[in-house]
Amino acid sequence: PTAELQAADLAHHLHPFTDHTELAGEGGPRIITHGEGVWLWDSEGRRLLDGMAGLWCVNIGYGRPELGEVARRQMDRLAYYNTFFKTSHEPVVELSERLAGLLPDGLDHVFFANSGSEANDTAVRLVRNYWARHGQPERHVIISRRHAYHGSTILAASLGGMASMHDIPGIPVPGIVHAEPPYSWEAGADLDDPEFGARAADAVEEAILRAGADSVAAFIGEPVMGAGGVIVPPPGYWKRVQEICDRYGILLICDEVICGFGRMGEWFGAQSYAIRPDVMTMAKGLSSGYQPISAVAINARVAEPLLDRVGRFPHGFTYSGHPVAAAVALENLDIMARENLLGHVRVTAAPALQTGLATLRDHPLVGEVRGAGLVAALELTADKASRRPFDPAGSVATRVRDLCFERGLVTRAVREGLVFAPPLVISQDEVGELVTILKSCLDDVWAAL
Ligand code: PLP
Repeated sequence: PTAELQAADLAHHLHPFTDHTELAGEGGPRIITHGEGVWLWDSEGRRLLDGMAGLWCVNIGYGRPELGEVARRQMDRLAYYNTFFKTSHEPVVELSERLAGLLPDGLDHVFFANSGSEANDTAVRLVRNYWARHGQPERHVIISRRHAYHGSTILAASLGGMASMHDIPGIPVPGIVHAEPPYSWEAGADLDDPEFGARAADAVEEAILRAGADSVAAFIGEPVMGAGGVIVPPPGYWKRVQEICDRYGILLICDEVICGFGRMGEWFGAQSYAIRPDVMTMAKGLSSGYQPISAVAINARVAEPLLDRVGRFPHGFTYSGHPVAAAVALENLDIMARENLLGHVRVTAAPALQTGLATLRDHPLVGEVRGAGLVAALELTADKASRRPFDPAGSVATRVRDLCFERGLVTRAVREGLVFAPPLVISQDEVGELVTILKSCLDDVWAAL
């Protein structure tokens, strides 16, 4: 019974990123029971269109029996063995080889972990290891960006640039410098303006110089910033950031935890923006969330101290390359290829989502609609001309989000905006339903203001 589950949850379960007083005030969490395609059902039988693919991760959609079958077979055969020291197993070998075939040229070696946070921690250890093995241990600073989200471990939270994540003593740890993101809405700029693209990229150089170029190990960024509010790079941004990294010899880490595995219409966001990363981190869509697994891919430059020199890199997780997770990831990649989900995103889903949301541009609450591939954001504003936000205390975005939930649509509020990242399998009709529900909620919140 729902009420019993809710009471037990309130009594014992600590939720990530949750205001527990608010949760208790609402009588406990909504209990999600099952899913199919882009749809979820709760314990009271209500159906929800999942406009967020869980946490930007259920790329192939819910309810794929093949993945359960693969997991079961792998558990029966070899439920666990580690990849430390000198052992390996079929699923991890096959997955490494498969990823090397999909990754942009040059990224040939893959290390596995369980979460995006661990992948980003690993990336930082790898790039710092690279410079230390090259006799430059002072090159340890990582340039990241304000508003970014890179995970929740102490290091990943430090890499992130959300003020709320730094509101705990000891975070950010030393050695992280944050640059301004290419956030046109906040900067009062036009997203399509190449001049803004150049200026935004120059913010990365400013951060490098602030840190001291000789102390910088790497720059980390998502091709399109996701949880930070779907911050889409303006024209020329990535080309110039790449040039800046090259000029200072700084390694470039692409966090592909959200952009990877089809969300941008290519296997990786780096391919959509012609970025040449030295290191790439991935998670979420690697298994479409069916198993916890993440990976870090590196090029020959970063791999050289690991592969060609005597000595070991003291880093790894008990479940690095877990056989069941690796087998499930492989099946997930098979499904993506078999169903041509990248093509579906490019030809159907992304155009439907972007044009559908664009119809809300003139809504009195909406200041901007932006997106890339199958992620999008609506920026809400109290005044379109000045881009003035609503009073954050009475967050209008949160009200729209909550009403959407009641009317059967999952979205997420980020600052005074709403973000969308549905499963890649979403159909044109389902996008239509998403837009219809969203519009009715915007209308009613607007009317009630
Ligand atoms: N990097 C990005 C871009 C993310 O969006 C996230 C999670 O949302 C992470 C890293 C952290 O991944 P995880 O929650 O698996 O640790």
